[in-house]
Amino acid sequence: MPVAIPFDNSYARLPARFHAKLAPTPVARPGLIRLNRGLAEALGLDPDALSGPEGAAIFAGNLVPEGAEPLAQAYAGHQFGHFNPQLGDGRAILLGEVIGADGMRRDIQLKGSGRTPFSRGGDGRAALGPVLREYIVSEAMAALGIPTTRALAAASTGEWVFREEPLPGAVLTRVAASHIRIGTFEYFAARGDVEALRLLADYAIARHWPQAGQDPNPPLALYRAVVGAQARLVAQWMLVGFIHGVMNTDNCTISGETIDYGPCAFLDEYHPDAVYSSIDHAGRYAFGRQPQIAQWNLARLAEAMLPLFAEDAQQAIALAKEALAEFAPTFAAAYHSGMARKLGLPRPDPELVRDFLALLAEQRGDYTNSFRALAAAADDPAAVPALPGAPEAWAPWVVRWRAARASGQAPDGAAMRAANPAYIPRNHLVEQALSAALQGDLRPFETLLQVLSDPYREQPGREAFARPPQRHERVLQTFCGT
Ligand code: AMP
Ligand code: MG
Repeated sequence: MPVAIPFDNSYARLPARFHAKLAPTPVARPGLIRLNRGLAEALGLDPDALSGPEGAAIFAGNLVPEGAEPLAQAYAGHQFGHFNPQLGDGRAILLGEVIGADGMRRDIQLKGSGRTPFSRGGDGRAALGPVLREYIVSEAMAALGIPTTRALAAASTGEWVFREEPLPGAVLTRVAASHIRIGTFEYFAARGDVEALRLLADYAIARHWPQAGQDPNPPLALYRAVVGAQARLVAQWMLVGFIHGVMNTDNCTISGETIDYGPCAFLDEYHPDAVYSSIDHAGRYAFGRQPQIAQWNLARLAEAMLPLFAEDAQQAIALAKEALAEFAPTFAAAYHSGMARKLGLPRPDPELVRDFLALLAEQRGDYTNSFRALAAAADDPAAVPALPGAPEAWAPWVVRWRAARASGQAPDGAAMRAANPAYIPRNHLVEQALSAALQGDLRPFETLLQVLSDPYREQPGREAFARPPQRHERVLQTFCGT
């Protein structure tokens, strides 16, 4: 049976200056490394048909399936604080959109599919390691319940890509609510193209925030919705210990999904200053700075959208400021209600959280496992939680924690475990899976994906996946590999 993908491509219908229409560049030897069968089914695609040679050809970019209208999207972006008016998909091709079983429209995009008019000096390709890394981490985020793009497939190209060394090439098939970024708005703002800004806002409203269309000022309502979605998203990152690593405005979606897993990492030891990315020399995107950076990015979105908010510039600025001011309270509410679930508290308690994190940083404690230790001790008032470092250091805090829990209807240990993953994509596990894959052994990659697909439930026999890295296993730096 030939592969049939029911495309309906709304982005391709936007004016020509939104994109460049071109097909992916075929590769030497397409091979399917992995198909995400569950996701394929949810998208209304046939996993059996896609797991054959035709699927490999599609996911490597050698076969443009019927109904696809391949294109590279135009966008700009602030990278590490500096504006670049022209980025765009330099190594990605949007094949088209499908409407899933849930009625949601999603992009199907190939990443690593060859050069485009936006490639600048790049080769348009991706290496196997970063492709599998994005596969693992994006699927882990989805299983954790955090809004994210997904991985539908990874394909090998049979070609080498040259970074510091020759590496096997691969293509990731990414699925997203859309690929509209803050940088997409910035692209048209930089060109003074208000008509395109308006079209883009209308498009984003129809696709992501239809209720904003009912507002007296729809573009402003769209902006408010994005502020809220980003505030809640970053709160979820902070709760789970995720460091994005490259929060440039081109890596920040209008849908509120996490996108672009480059030098990202999960905290092992807790520290707000933690930075893993090899390119983040100044610590701009350190763990603890993420809420502030999200807010900075949203200010750039407001600047780009100003002409849509009001005709009068001063009035537009006032409206934007008022909308952006919602970021801090929205973030705080999401973060502290999440922390109350994680700590098993009847209500948010910012001071108890602050002191917990200060002690954790001091004791160099494992972020994920410390919450699980509290959950394990929650149901027995006499139990001493197995927190890192000296128990005496924790004793006064534990007394306050018990008292806070006793002051109302507190979640029990089981409810706390449902809010605290046992398994996260720990950096050393990801690295081990990738280096085995580079040696041709995909089993650690498969096992890791399987463990991470059910992160909140303890899986007997999988204890090693919950263990922090030993000294020699520690990953100190992550690379975007582009
Ligand atoms: P990223 O760091 O993946 O968010 O990419 C930032 C920008 O660089 C985007 O415009 C990408 O399309 C572009 N880019 C990254 N890697 C490559 C590559 N190998 N070839 C061409 N463009 C690339
Ligand atoms: Mg990017």
